[in-house]
Amino acid sequence: MSTSPTDGFERVVLSGSPAERGREHGERFADAVASNVELYRERFAHEGVDLDAIRDHAAEYVDVIERENPGYAEEMRGVAEGSGVPLADVAMLNVRWEVIYPAWKDQTEAATDGDERAGRSGESPVDGCTSFGVAPPATADGGTYVGQNWDWLASVADNLFLMELRRDDAPDLLAMTEAGIVGGKIGVNEHGIGLAVNGLISDGDGTNALRKPYHVRFREVLDAERFDDALRPIVETDRVCSANVLVGHADGEVIDLEAAPDLVNTIYPEDGVLTHANHFETDAVESINERRSPSTLYRGPRLRRLLAAEAEEGIEPADVQAALRDHFGRPSSICSHVDESVPAVEYGQTNASFVIDLAGRRLLGQRGPPCEGEYHEYAL
Ligand SMILES: [Zn+2]
Repeated sequence: MSTSPTDGFERVVLSGSPAERGREHGERFADAVASNVELYRERFAHEGVDLDAIRDHAAEYVDVIERENPGYAEEMRGVAEGSGVPLADVAMLNVRWEVIYPAWKDQTEAATDGDERAGRSGESPVDGCTSFGVAPPATADGGTYVGQNWDWLASVADNLFLMELRRDDAPDLLAMTEAGIVGGKIGVNEHGIGLAVNGLISDGDGTNALRKPYHVRFREVLDAERFDDALRPIVETDRVCSANVLVGHADGEVIDLEAAPDLVNTIYPEDGVLTHANHFETDAVESINERRSPSTLYRGPRLRRLLAAEAEEGIEPADVQAALRDHFGRPSSICSHVDESVPAVEYGQTNASFVIDLAGRRLLGQRGPPCEGEYHEYAL
């Protein structure tokens, strides 16, 4: 999968039973699944995390996923069979937030307490991202759009693909995923429900053990036919760690859910515009990620201003794309680039950029930093 970003995303249709979909995913992306396992293990090791403990912990989650969402577990087993990668390692990819964010939270707190165990305090290990939702009255065509720049390890940028699920017993959907992760992250379903996600860290992360993983919840959001059922997977049960989940509906609704382990804060658009980055904007929990990634403090507000400036004329997809290419604070900008002053294993950048047209059931997507190419259109 070493294609150029200008080639856009590889798009794969997965159909049949969960096991069949998983096997197809695993066979087709066997090298990329193995590569993701290797790259995440390398990254975790760099953080000083015990790899055997991570693997054992991930293996424990297979039973949790089996209980919470048997179809997801079946699809994950299919990926393991199809790719030849051990199930515990495939599970590790699917629960990487749950197994790693609490460990990183402890290290960040140790670092800011001046504890030498914490090692260096460099680029944030959280999936950095700047996300948005725009809805009437702010949009030129009266449509509703959600999306984001997905800023993460540059090393995994080649191991992404667009997963199109064609199913008889659940909605069809189109979502970006990392090879090996069956849930998907950023996408839209046939009912016009769309999803964007950002990493967050709060002081309670890791307090609850073995809860339903976020990637399972993301799949469940896109499995929903109704908007309340799209919110349910995020809010109904408590969580191991924190995440920001922005959910939109083609008929003009956008809700941002700042999820901590035991509570969810909601944020709604103002005048049709909503943005979010990687810190809690409400003060109900202690937000931690900005200690290591202060750029989050300006990326969200800046994107909001850039979008709001276009709202009177009516925001068009091209306006959002231009805003997602913003370079204020480069390399820690909305359009994020590699900071060569940090060790290569920590190199991060915008690996993917999406503007999702919920009414049109289509993704406008760009692989790599959006300043480096054109958005391609992928319709469901
Ligand atoms: Zn750029």
